Amino acid sequence: MAYMYDDQNIFAKILRGEIPNNTVLETEHTLAFRDIAPQAPEHILVIPKGPYVTYDHFAGTASEAEIVDFARASAKISNDLGVAPGAGGNGFRVITNAGEDAIQEVPHFHIHILAGRPLGGILPAEG
Ligand code: 5GP
Repeated sequence: MAYMYDDQNIFAKILRGEIPNNTVLETEHTLAFRDIAPQAPEHILVIPKGPYVTYDHFAGTASEAEIVDFARASAKISNDLGVAPGAGGNGFRVITNAGEDAIQEVPHFHIHILAGRPLGGILPAEG
């Protein structure tokens, strides 16, 4: 696995406190904040604090403590927002984009938690 982490990416700047964010949850290894351009009534970005570029980079190389912290924080958010079906909500979607075909804009691993409206099919039409 060959990834080079660019520490000038926008989420690295958010983690260093160089630009503000609307924090939803912060834990030892994880930060969650609202997307600046929400595509649903609830649109949260969840990022590890460590320097990981993509999902496979994070899941393949992060420590178990980081991975568990990230997974538990993500679950807590969907429950705290009240969108998880188990919390009586109408549901949510988790998306992560990796690389060019997925149109990953920010090269710091993140998941999108989207909720608050019907979210349509998994993918747009080809093209
Ligand atoms: P990607 O395309 O990499 O999966 O998603 C990047 C996301 O980061 C986009 O949804 C975009 O709106 C969001 N984003 C980009 N810059 C900022 C920022 O400065 N602050 C916040 N909160 N979100 C950002």
